[in-house]
Amino acid sequence: MSPDDKNETRAAAMPVPPPLRNDCFALPAGVEWTPVDDALALLRERLHPVCGVETVPLSDALGRVLAEDVIAARSNPPRANAAVDGYGFAGPAGEGAQVMPLLDGRAAAGGDFTGTVPEGHALRILTGAALPEGVDTVVLEEDVTVQAGHIAFHGPLKQRANARRAGEDVVAGDVALHAARRITPADLALLAAVGIGEVPVRTVLRVGVLSTGDELTEPGSDAGAGQIYDANRPMLLALLERMGHAPVDLGRVGDDRDALRAALDDGAAQVDAILTSGGASAGDEDHVSALLTEAGAMQQWRIAVKPGRPLALGLWQGKPVFGLPGNPVAAMVCTLIFARPALALLAGMGWVEPQAFDIPAAFEKRKKPGRREYLRARMRDGQAEPFASEGSGRISGLSWAEGLVELPDGELHVRRGDPVRFIPWGGFGI
Ligand code: AMP
Ligand code: MG
Repeated sequence: MSPDDKNETRAAAMPVPPPLRNDCFALPAGVEWTPVDDALALLRERLHPVCGVETVPLSDALGRVLAEDVIAARSNPPRANAAVDGYGFAGPAGEGAQVMPLLDGRAAAGGDFTGTVPEGHALRILTGAALPEGVDTVVLEEDVTVQAGHIAFHGPLKQRANARRAGEDVVAGDVALHAARRITPADLALLAAVGIGEVPVRTVLRVGVLSTGDELTEPGSDAGAGQIYDANRPMLLALLERMGHAPVDLGRVGDDRDALRAALDDGAAQVDAILTSGGASAGDEDHVSALLTEAGAMQQWRIAVKPGRPLALGLWQGKPVFGLPGNPVAAMVCTLIFARPALALLAGMGWVEPQAFDIPAAFEKRKKPGRREYLRARMRDGQAEPFASEGSGRISGLSWAEGLVELPDGELHVRRGDPVRFIPWGGFGI
């Protein structure tokens, strides 16, 4: 079989995920403002993995998403072994002075000591060496004096002291890692230890990023009076990269329906999902929402969240499109809160919750009921400090921040020292 034939066989065996349903972004009728939790619950219920499966060697597995549970091929440790450098014997050792004849030779990690240690005798043994026949206990070398072919130490010492049991960490046949996990450096150590050389992983989710707006121009170019630089595209591409997906730059289009249609067609042909920014509301120049509506698979999600105007969620030629607000602050918050878990589901990672913790507020704030709020914030001296301005056009605040403070939907009066929920960027995996 040539390598090509092999690839074809593998491709044929790959499970092909079913397409997403056209109504996957439909909201219950009559809903006005959708609470954040309801929106998330809908995404969780409707989206499923769209990526196929491939097998990669451990050297290529970092950051990839396990497609199946991985079963340990071998126990860790495979055999009982010494946890310290010292002297091995059959334990336990009683109270008081212990003296034992010392055998010739030694057991070392990777060594070939095959003898048996007779009852009442001791053998020099090094960390990691498999326990020879007749040894189940090791006395630490620092606690021993060696003289005239004998060792001496003070007991007592429990049986199996300083020894590791075979399989005390992982037993062969057990699940070493569960499907949907994104492989970490530590996971590579575990997989290697339990005898795994290659793993079944999801293909990497390709996510396109498209900016929309007549006012936008390329960073670094000369900008006309009415123009602003496209700040969202570099940010969104970078966020996707940090989330472990394959970002695809779909460029920038003006507020022109035909150009946008062509860009979405082009994007849908090469990616698994698309993030657009701008043009997602219901205004005259909001062509993203207009086109998705035209395609018959669009929903305006009026989510009760601040910052963030409506999200336009839809399918374009079967590919999910997340129409983010144009405002960079809202675009980033909506990406982290809504697109991140949605993309994780598509990528086969299952549902991901941000890792948050409650810390005292270094601020006072009153908030009205109705919308969940996210403040750009950072932690200093164990307290949550918000950015001085809540203006959603303040990109410097995004850059200043090291995470978000999440304030619940209801009415609230936060006083200094009250616990607030802080989600560091790392809690979003970025
Ligand atoms: P829109 O959602 O298209 O109404 O845009 C909302 C605000 O975000 C407007 O002030 C836009 O100029 C701005 N905006 C839209 N896209 C971007 C972008 N890619 N980079 C920076 N600002 C943007
Ligand atoms: Mg616009």
